[in-house]
Amino acid sequence: MTTIGFIGLGNMGGPMAANLVKAGYEVTGYDVSGRALAVFAEAGGRQAATLAQAAENVDILITMLPAGPHVKLVYQDENGVLARARKGTLLIDCSTIDVETAREVNKAASAAGFAMLDAPVSGGVGGASAGTLTFMVGGEAAAFERARPVLEKMGKTIVHAGPAGNGQAAKICNNMILGVSMIAVCEAFHLAEKLGLEAQTLFDISSKSSGQCWSLTNYCPAPGPVPAAPSNRDYKPGFTAEMMLKDLKLAQQAAHASGATTPLGAEAAALYGLLVGSGGLGGADFSVMMKYLRGATD
Ligand code: NAD
Repeated sequence: MTTIGFIGLGNMGGPMAANLVKAGYEVTGYDVSGRALAVFAEAGGRQAATLAQAAENVDILITMLPAGPHVKLVYQDENGVLARARKGTLLIDCSTIDVETAREVNKAASAAGFAMLDAPVSGGVGGASAGTLTFMVGGEAAAFERARPVLEKMGKTIVHAGPAGNGQAAKICNNMILGVSMIAVCEAFHLAEKLGLEAQTLFDISSKSSGQCWSLTNYCPAPGPVPAAPSNRDYKPGFTAEMMLKDLKLAQQAAHASGATTPLGAEAAALYGLLVGSGGLGGADFSVMMKYLRGATD
């Protein structure tokens, strides 16, 4: 039976690892947080006392960590994954991190004799719990095929995006579309309000017209038209404004490094920066931009 190590058992990693346990894999988990480890043990996982214990003697090692520096540390520390995993272990990093770090860590893994994939996800905590995440995967085709059966236990859509780093590239390009389109939809509903046009009327028209997009039809930021949207539960996340800001900053970092022209991506990053810096809205769903444009800061 395939054995799996899982490092980073937080809001996303916890339920993802639990789904692997549910699928019948033997999963050994590690997290610096004792609470995260205890929740994982309750779900039937084996607790590792150290990072090395989770990385040694497994067929596949998965990481789900906050950001690039954590990934670098976990893989490249002297007692990290590259030093302690046995040869032949397939390494899969599911964290959302900058493309540059993803490629750098992949190169170090290759040099140490490991196959590695970057496999960030979309779908949020709900998708992680339900096992319906989308995985965007960068790395060699053979490694992707090896990973696929395991990723399918945590997700519904698994896409090979090309060589190392391309999973991260796909993730930040997608989320740049999302951030920019959410602001556009919020601005339109804000303007409609000022002009005396009902939110429901604008929704009925735009959802069937050229303004149609995911931010409008699935996540409408004006309360009312889409009952399941966070706007109908006072913008409880969902996907927080802080997380959107993180991804928009990663997109800008990649745009600068590659010389891409992304003026609206830059504006979106600046506007979400102002929203998050303004007070109490950073932990709310990113569609809270609607409230921010109306002048609220908490
Ligand atoms: P989280 O903070 O809840 O979980 C991260 C976990 O990593 C924490 O439990 C933390 O203790 C652990 N950790 C940190 N450093 C560690 C180390 N050195 N060794 C072991 N464990 C360590 O974050 P999350 O919401 O689970 O997000 C994880 C990643 O997924 C992020 O990169 C995020 O951008 C991405 N993501 C999150 C969502 C979401 O909706 N939450 C959606 C898509 C992608």
